[in-house]
Amino acid sequence: MSSKANADCCADGHAGPAMKLADALERILAEARPVSGAETLAVRSALGRLLLADIVSTINVPSHANSAMDGYALRGADLAAEDETRLEVIGIAAAGRPFAGEVGAGQCVRIMTGAPIPLRTDTVVMQEDVTIDGDTAILGGGQRAGQHVRQAGEDIGAGDVALCAGALLRPAELGVLASLGVSEVRVRRRPRVAFFSTGDELRSVGEPLDTGQIYDSNRYTIYGMLTRLGVEAVDMGVVRDEQDAVERAFTEAAARADAIVTSGGVSVGDADYITQTLERTGSVGFWKVAMKPGRPLAFGHVGEALFFGLPGNPVSVMATFYQLVQPALQALAGMPNPAPPLTVTAVSTEPLRKKTGRREFQRGLFTYASDGKLMVCRAGRQGSGVLSSMSAANCFIVLPEDSGPVAEGDEVTVQPFAAFV
Ligand code: AMP
Ligand code: MG
Repeated sequence: MSSKANADCCADGHAGPAMKLADALERILAEARPVSGAETLAVRSALGRLLLADIVSTINVPSHANSAMDGYALRGADLAAEDETRLEVIGIAAAGRPFAGEVGAGQCVRIMTGAPIPLRTDTVVMQEDVTIDGDTAILGGGQRAGQHVRQAGEDIGAGDVALCAGALLRPAELGVLASLGVSEVRVRRRPRVAFFSTGDELRSVGEPLDTGQIYDSNRYTIYGMLTRLGVEAVDMGVVRDEQDAVERAFTEAAARADAIVTSGGVSVGDADYITQTLERTGSVGFWKVAMKPGRPLAFGHVGEALFFGLPGNPVSVMATFYQLVQPALQALAGMPNPAPPLTVTAVSTEPLRKKTGRREFQRGLFTYASDGKLMVCRAGRQGSGVLSSMSAANCFIVLPEDSGPVAEGDEVTVQPFAAFV
């Protein structure tokens, strides 16, 4: 696919037209196949993982018919049509402490929420509708036979597929597994993702800065995004802007990981070795995407590993990761169809500059106005090197390819950061 993609989008080499973001994502997802390999984990440790096989319930949940209310259990046939009903109270049933006897006509049992429905009863009247006079319960009119009873297997029946293969184990799924009495599950192995930064100007935290040097922040944002995503992050440090060093790093990363994420060195400067190295050691899918921040960007393979060469600018790194790398890694993890990030509509409280022809992800801050309307403004300066704008923001303001400048009061699409895991 690589040579075809190159021909499509970069006909004259590095200066060719850029690819639309949606097309880039489609091509990437076409290459992202779930990793093989599985492990068996205790249910709690499986949070965030994907199930390898269906989970079939061996029991009914709940295991017995039980009361949904605190009140009185009785035979529905005993209820008077409209009027009040008088019944003899013969015992009590609590959760975990069933009533042992049988309930006859004209009788009832005091019952608590979760207690098994006593033999021969099928209806619960809530306690607020009952007056007690000695051993007699006087039930108000308007009750319905069968009410306030949770049937056995009403949540999940024995033999039902409770969770399907591929399901993401979120807090609700951990609870469902526990409700079935399951203590361990088979899940897919996590994708392993190697990442490194390139640049002679980069120093790691803890080292002193010389003139012209900066601290490597991309390895921290990438670490954070990978870790939140639940993949295994393999930090390979900073690689110098030298052909050999970059090539060695590619080979090592491909041997260790299912995917490689790098930052920097992907444009056409003298010290930009990523695309060349990708061409030599692997294959280049495409390398320019019509998005801002973000272009240029390299995608391809090194050996079996998927390769993402992100730009160096810190905001571009985050924007391209969220829009393109995250869905691909979710697909590697085994998610059948990673859902696109949630978007909402908000009113821009200020004019926004925008050129047509590329999709822009401006850093925004949304708030609710007193009338409940969602409003959004820019979060600080918008340069692709201004990482503090990402920290100040709670969303991307997404301006599509065909959109021009935005006027104050215009509606815009907003992608809350909460949508990115
Ligand atoms: P490059 O794509 O290598 O030309 O880098 C573009 C810009 O991003 C330059 O100003 C770099 O200094 C900066 N940059 C590259 N890598 C990093 C990094 N890991 N952390 C912070 N800034 C970076
Ligand atoms: Mg560089």
